[in-house]
Formats: sequence, structure tokens, C-alpha cells
Amino acid sequence: MASAASHDGLAIGPGDIERAAARLEGVAHRTPVRTSRTADERCGGALYFKCENLQRMGAFKFRGAYNALAQFSPAQRRAGVIAYSSGNHAQAIALAARLLDMPSVLVMPVDSPRSKLAATRGYQAGRRGSEIVLYDRFREDREAIGARLAAERGMTLVPPYDDAQVMAGQGTAAAELIDEVGPLDLLVVCVGGGGLIAGSAVAAHARVPGIEVVGVEPEAGNDTQLSLARGEIVHIETPHTIADGAQTQHSGRLTFPVIQRLVARIETVSDEQLVRTMRFFAERMKMVVEPTGCLAAAALLEGTIDVHGRRVGVIVSGGNVDLARYAGFLVD
Ligand SMILES: *Cc1c(COP(=O)(O)O)cnc(C)c1O
Repeated sequence: MASAASHDGLAIGPGDIERAAARLEGVAHRTPVRTSRTADERCGGALYFKCENLQRMGAFKFRGAYNALAQFSPAQRRAGVIAYSSGNHAQAIALAARLLDMPSVLVMPVDSPRSKLAATRGYQAGRRGSEIVLYDRFREDREAIGARLAAERGMTLVPPYDDAQVMAGQGTAAAELIDEVGPLDLLVVCVGGGGLIAGSAVAAHARVPGIEVVGVEPEAGNDTQLSLARGEIVHIETPHTIADGAQTQHSGRLTFPVIQRLVARIETVSDEQLVRTMRFFAERMKMVVEPTGCLAAAALLEGTIDVHGRRVGVIVSGGNVDLARYAGFLVD
């Protein structure tokens, strides 16, 4: 990106978030911010939940996808977009491509939740040149498959997190949250490849200098925590966790430097803690939240992060979960 130098060497700066917000105006939902007395009493702080589970297609990923696709040239639009994803990025690209009238090819794991596959197919329906390509996430390299198909078909690849325009779009959720509730002491964000937290951290620090931004990863997949400790990007095996949106093996070349600079630290939570948090959302806040969407809240509700007396923003990142699987989590 030409303006990289103006952001202290980082891929995005506050201006990118503001421009993304303008592109998303009237297209993405301005999602609600919810509070819970029970949650506040349990944590001893004031929690503000930004409900991206109620975003279009059910996750914040629509923000980044639409922001990236809206900037395609006419030739790029004609050829279309290709993306690889464990689910929500695929749905986001399929929906954004439909809204912008371009074909989409999506490389998805063969074991993706059925609801995500069905929703993606639904958004693609009737678009010539659109299809889903399935792969085995424990044996095949999705980045290689995506790059090969992009070259063969002349389509533009939009990665799920390691892209400046995707990161900028994701940051608009935190921007809306702070603009709505005022300054926060702490912002807690889930971490997969780091697109959401990178954008969120840039937006948050621009609004509240000195705000603490903390990331949360699944215990089994703490690659970003390891990377911060080591000072370089650490690659891990595909983690086995119910948080399927955070099964990434490494953070990105663009996201990691932002995380290094603007994120205070990364905490982890177990699958068991995610299940308890899913139940809390269902029972107390009447919301369907997918396992990955529970990461940030779990670190607070389970006491991993102490927030006594603090004003805390919590990104609830998504709500896409197969009903049968969801029912299994709620009732044991
Ligand atoms: C993709 C995703 C994440 C992780 O986002 P990154 O930008 O890869 O860190 C978290 N929650 C949900 C619901 C997601 O779809």
C-alpha cells in the first residue's frame, strides 16, 4: 500500500478505518451494543458487548470483505473474487460479491459446518462462474489451492485476514462501539489470523490514546501468543478446538506487526470455558453466539482478565453455528 509509510510502517492507519466506515455506511448493519447486569456483577466492571453475531451473514467478516471488494477495478469485478475460509469469510465474500454483482469462487474445508456451506451456496445461487471448492484442512494447503485457482482463472484473491482493506473493514466494528459508548479502558477481541484485532486496535488507539487492547485465542491454538513472546510469527499445527473461526496456524505478515505494536497481550481460554460462555449468552442475553464468537467474553466471564472498576468493550464476533451442534453444546 502506497501510504504504508504514513502509518509508522504498519499496513493500515486510522484514515483507512474511516474510509472503510464510509464505504460500509448503509450496507453493513450498525450492530447493537448490549449490556448485562449479571455479567457486570460477575466481573466487577462495565461490559459493552458489540454484537457482530447480528451483522449481515452473521459475523464481522462482512465488513472486511465488502470494504475490499468495493475497491475492485471494473476488470477485477468482471473476473471475480476467490477466497479460502473456514466459513465466515467465505460467506462474507459470497454476499459482498453478490451485492457488487461479481462471481465468487470459495475454497472451503470439507468439514465446514453445514450451515456455513449452505449459506455460502445460497449467496452464490444464480451467479455464473461462482462455485465452492472443498479441501481437507488437515492435509491440504488452502493458500496454495487459492493461489493456483486465482492464477488459472484470473480472479483476485482476497485473503481472510492478511490484507490491508480487510483489516480496515474489520476495524469499523470497534470504531462504532467506541463512538457509541464513549471512551473505554479496555477492549477485548478474539484472535484468529489477527485481522479483526489489528483493525480494532488501530481504531481504538486512534479514539482513546492509552486504551488497552487484549486478544483472546483458544488454548489449543495460541500461535499469536507464542509469536508475541518470541518476537516473530510462529507457525503451529491446525489446532483442534471448537472455535473453528480461530483454527489459524499463524498470524499474518500484515496483521502481526500491528498486534506487536498496539496489542498489550494475548490470553487464552479452553473449549470448556467457551461452552459455558455460549450457555451464558443463550440463557442470560438471549443470543446465539458461535464458539469463536465467545472467546473475548469467556476471558472476562471466566475471570482470566481482571476488569474491576473498568469500562470494557467486548467484540462478540459471530453467531453462525449449526443448530444440531449448538444444541449439543447447550445440553450435555
Ligand atoms: C474469522 C473469525 C474470527 C477471527 O478473526 P481474525 O481476523 O482471523 O483474527 C473470530 N470470530 C469469528 C466469528 C470469525 O468468523
